[in-house]
Amino acid sequence: MRPLETQVAVVGAGAAGLYVALCAAREGARVSLISAMPLAESSSYWAQGGLAAALREDDSPERHFDDTVAAGRGMVRESAAHILAVQAPAAVEDLTQLGLRFDADRRGRLALGLEGGHSARRIVHAGGAATGRRLIRELSALVAQDDRIEILEGRRATAVLKADSEQRCAGVQLDGGQQIRAAAVVLATGGAAALWSRTTNPAGATGSGLLLAHRAGATLADLEMLQFHPTAVASPNGADGFLVTEAIRGEGARLLDQSGERFVDELAPRDEVARAIGRRMLDTHAPSVDLDMRAVDPALFPNVVTALRRAGIDPERELVPVAPAAHYMMGGIATDIEGRASLPGLYAVGECSCTGLHGANRLASNSLTECFVFGRRAAHAATAEPDPPQLPRDPAGGPPPPLSAGSREALWRYAGLERDRTGLEQLADDPYPLVRLIASSALARAESRGAHQRRDFPECDPALDHRHVTIAENGPPELAEWR
Ligand SMILES: Cc1cc2nc3c(=O)[nH]c(=O)nc-3n(C[C@H](O)[C@H](O)[C@H](O)COP(=O)(O)OP(=O)(O)OC[C@H]3O[C@@H](n4cnc5c(N)ncnc54)[C@H](O)[C@@H]3O)c2cc1C
Repeated sequence: MRPLETQVAVVGAGAAGLYVALCAAREGARVSLISAMPLAESSSYWAQGGLAAALREDDSPERHFDDTVAAGRGMVRESAAHILAVQAPAAVEDLTQLGLRFDADRRGRLALGLEGGHSARRIVHAGGAATGRRLIRELSALVAQDDRIEILEGRRATAVLKADSEQRCAGVQLDGGQQIRAAAVVLATGGAAALWSRTTNPAGATGSGLLLAHRAGATLADLEMLQFHPTAVASPNGADGFLVTEAIRGEGARLLDQSGERFVDELAPRDEVARAIGRRMLDTHAPSVDLDMRAVDPALFPNVVTALRRAGIDPERELVPVAPAAHYMMGGIATDIEGRASLPGLYAVGECSCTGLHGANRLASNSLTECFVFGRRAAHAATAEPDPPQLPRDPAGGPPPPLSAGSREALWRYAGLERDRTGLEQLADDPYPLVRLIASSALARAESRGAHQRRDFPECDPALDHRHVTIAENGPPELAEWR
């Protein structure tokens, strides 16, 4: 089979992949966009809240930066947070120029929502809580119209190809053996929260890009940092794991325990709220707590209300049973602030990447913004890569082993909201490689911080501030300092 040739190969068609493809094409590059799944199966499609950007007169990028750093619990890479906060307004402007219509208030100004950990209203949204759906629909249409972008839909990347002659990425291999030679490969394959059995993520979010990068020798980082969303529906009626956006708590919804008592500040950062719910469930032996959104205007969140009604819950009259679920992988393929991975020619953007921006706890709605801010930077750097080297004569690798329900259950049990050495060691021989890498990262961080809570090390260790657990090919986890 003859290899295809392109300048930039983008793997993944969520918010990050679509936007990288558009930005690279705008810079005049030829782009191949590879997407394994139908568009509706990306996490981006399901995003409800929106994108965080400091746009109000009483807000500023400095405050957005401060909130990001505070939420990240001493582990945020400040250079990345600074870029995000400063460049977020321009990303919103660019999306608007591309034709995205964000929700406006009665005076025609952008309507900005409030979410946990934010000290100001700064969440831009579209169609109420249908932001992801609108974004993906618009960006996909633009990509489809662009002659410089070749779309390979329903195709899965199975290996990142490394040149024989030098330590450099030469392209990507797809299922069926098709190879694409490219000057730059941008992985935008999304997160890994669907590795856990209770999750808000679509089934495909199993970190495939992390494994491809790791096998090609790129460094991974912060795999122990998996954010649990506090309020996913806990119901046997088909809606289990459905996320009830934090923006609803921003509009006044309350969390109540079985006796109807409030027990947490609903707008505290996610790690605090998730942990408080987990503890209250343990104390009361209840499978969930209740979200009281009866006083929230249902017109603000039409698709959430519709989804709940479809599951037999009327949120205007009834309490909604909720419990934490695995939601967002803060760790991923270690990159610099231009999206460059440790293997030259390889880039990562969006949830599969780890710039260090989110530290130990992602601030709500910073992830979509990250896709756009860092997507643009990565596209710019990727289009400047020199001609690709020759493809390897004997490419290694094949698809990773299948992920079993047993591995997913084990990860939930032993690397869930709280973990300890004994449990994590149970994962050391798991058949799925990423489960083993997550467990060894969690073992290497002997402290509790943000999303990573160790029963056997309940305190935060200040000596680990700004330290990230990194894993290079075949190497043991190491603690690297990132600023
Ligand atoms: C229910 C829900 C609500 C959320 N709400 C918000 C929110 O309001 N605000 C916010 O900022 N964030 C939110 N998030 C998080 C945010 O949606 C994601 O972090 C972000 O959309 C990730 O975008 P992405 O492009 O990196 O990955 P994704 O959107 O997951 O896209 C990954 C793409 O890669 C493809 N892919 C994967 N592996 C391969 C492979 N081997 N070969 C080819 N293609 C592959 C997939 O098919 C998919 O197209 C939410 C997440 C969920 C699940």
